[in-house]
Amino acid sequence: MKKLSHELPDIRSHKRFQLWKLLSSIGALLLLIFSLVNLADQNYRLGGMLLAFSLVILLIFLTYRRSDNSGRAMTSLNIIIIFFCLYLLISGGRDNTGILWIYPVLITTLSVNVFRSAAITGGTLVLISTLLLFTPLSDFITAEYSQTTATRFIVTLTLLYIISLIGLHYEQQAYRTIQAMHNQDLHKLAYYDGLTGLPNRNSFKRKLARIVPRTHSKHQYLGLLYIDLDNFHTVNDLYGHQTGDQLLVTFAESLQHTVRTRDLVAKGDGEGESESGNLARLAGDEFVVLLSDLKHPADAAAIAQRILMQFDGGFEAGGLVHPIHASIGIAVSQNESGEESTLLRDAEVAMNEAKRSGGNTFQFFTDEISQIVYRSQKIESGLSEAIESKSFHLVYMPIYDCQTLKIVGIEALLRSNHPSLEGIGPDEFIPVAESKGRIKWLDKWVLENALHELTNLQQIGFDGVLCVNMSGAELHTDKYPQIVAKTLKKHGINPKYLEIEITETALVADNVKSVDILRRLRELGITLSLDDFGTGYTAFSQLINYPVNSLKIDRSFVAGIFSQDDTRRKMVEIILNLAEIYKLRIVAEGVETREQFEYLKNIGCHYAQGYLFSKPLPVSELVTLLEYQRVSESI
Ligand code: C2E
Ligand code: CA
Ligand code: CA
Repeated sequence: MKKLSHELPDIRSHKRFQLWKLLSSIGALLLLIFSLVNLADQNYRLGGMLLAFSLVILLIFLTYRRSDNSGRAMTSLNIIIIFFCLYLLISGGRDNTGILWIYPVLITTLSVNVFRSAAITGGTLVLISTLLLFTPLSDFITAEYSQTTATRFIVTLTLLYIISLIGLHYEQQAYRTIQAMHNQDLHKLAYYDGLTGLPNRNSFKRKLARIVPRTHSKHQYLGLLYIDLDNFHTVNDLYGHQTGDQLLVTFAESLQHTVRTRDLVAKGDGEGESESGNLARLAGDEFVVLLSDLKHPADAAAIAQRILMQFDGGFEAGGLVHPIHASIGIAVSQNESGEESTLLRDAEVAMNEAKRSGGNTFQFFTDEISQIVYRSQKIESGLSEAIESKSFHLVYMPIYDCQTLKIVGIEALLRSNHPSLEGIGPDEFIPVAESKGRIKWLDKWVLENALHELTNLQQIGFDGVLCVNMSGAELHTDKYPQIVAKTLKKHGINPKYLEIEITETALVADNVKSVDILRRLRELGITLSLDDFGTGYTAFSQLINYPVNSLKIDRSFVAGIFSQDDTRRKMVEIILNLAEIYKLRIVAEGVETREQFEYLKNIGCHYAQGYLFSKPLPVSELVTLLEYQRVSESI
């Protein structure tokens, strides 16, 4: 910004400097020619003088040629010009025509000067000329001038001087106006958003730093609303960016209106800064409102509510009604210091939380949210480090046949032994990996390593199924079935020994595409199961559309079988009845007690896994368990 605002004067002074270079060289050349003419006429005094001048100008020209310092170059040129003109006046030049040369020389010099130095140069010349012509100093003049010539000369000189100054004055003023406009434009560019005309992030941050200490001293609450439009991108996708822009402008206007209405109610006396100055557009569809005089934090909620109300029944912009909403994060504070204010960050975090909970709502920043954010940041960085050093391993949880109590399958479960993920299990780091786009790498790693382990287990006689968890993200990965096929082939494993588990909630989110991916997986010859069944919202009639082989009843249902409220038990019974209709196998997860197991077995559950039988085991312990089972079978 600073650099830009200096650009204009630089251009101007550079232009003057170029002009100076041109004039100096022309001047030096002319003087050289005159001096040679005079010398040839044996007019040695004038010729010598002109030669000396031309050499001095040449010297100055050579010295300052590369400096681009027009100020210094001009001063030196001015001094020379004064002396040159005075010389012409005193000597009369050749045939007493010297003073005629003074006019063009002076005009040209003045016109390349800036106002101040032109005033000094011209003024000095007028003054000295007057003294020389009309006082006893005229003894110095060797030329012969009549009174009329002298007067005419001084009058003409003074007029030229005044005209030059007026010209320069107007030029300078015009330049100043242009510069002011230029600076204003730059200011606008740097501090205002071009689309809505609202202050931008830069200027909002400056404002925040200014206002925060003031609020502190007045012991008022300072509130910040962070607004992000939900589904705004669909407007761009459906109607193009122009409509999207129009919507943003309309929203900015209505936001100004909403906040201003509140301004009148809250202040009444019109004192203080305008509230519309407390709005800003930070980026894209993100806006903020600074509430600098809250009596109570709840007032911020009321304003947020009013902003949300604008979206009731759709948001109208450009003649269209768009089904969009907003998510608003609110941070309120009383004791903040301007520099370290975390208001903006906190409000953004709260906004993200509002978005996560489905949008079209507001959310206050709380300690609880900050804990969640802190933990997810910790998990995020730990996960990156763990992926970097591939610090993962698998444990295996046996799955039992309820009737024979034989191990019919094992579920591979991911663990990390990286210190930064200590105490953090897959139920926490897998969702982070999903949201940060690292899950595909992890799923691949698990598949590769689990299948590798399966070849070892098959060599010692294991003929059960290996169950691998697949992230919902793979339902959008066209290549996933290919990856599975390739990995199976690489390890030479018959696909019937692989079962892929997909959580029910992931499936509900996206129907057509997911079903297609599942169908392609099934075509490979592997089996599929719906994990955590009962936690999603699958309409049972939809089950027929999912090409799955089994359902895994979620742990929470098993845990609730004997609770007072019998809804969970009923749900388990319904699931088992449905399984019969749809010919699905049922696995009960999280079986921890003998009672639970007996009950599930009696109502027809096919398989079970849980702490009652075994916790997830490292591969060495799994091998021992499998061997033990083989031995006891053979007895
Ligand atoms: P899930 O697929 O439902 O896995 C079962 C979870 O329940 C496992 O937790 C297991 O240790 C636990 N569990 C099983 N029986 C019992 C029991 O009787 N009592 C109790 N208290 N817990 C039991 P884990 O290993 O912490 O995994 C949690 C979740 O993380 C998994 O739920 C799965 O959604 C995800 N996950 C684990 N490994 C992977 C993986 O390799 N890839 C992907 N995409 N997700 C994975
Ligand atoms: Ca699972
Ligand atoms: Ca599960």
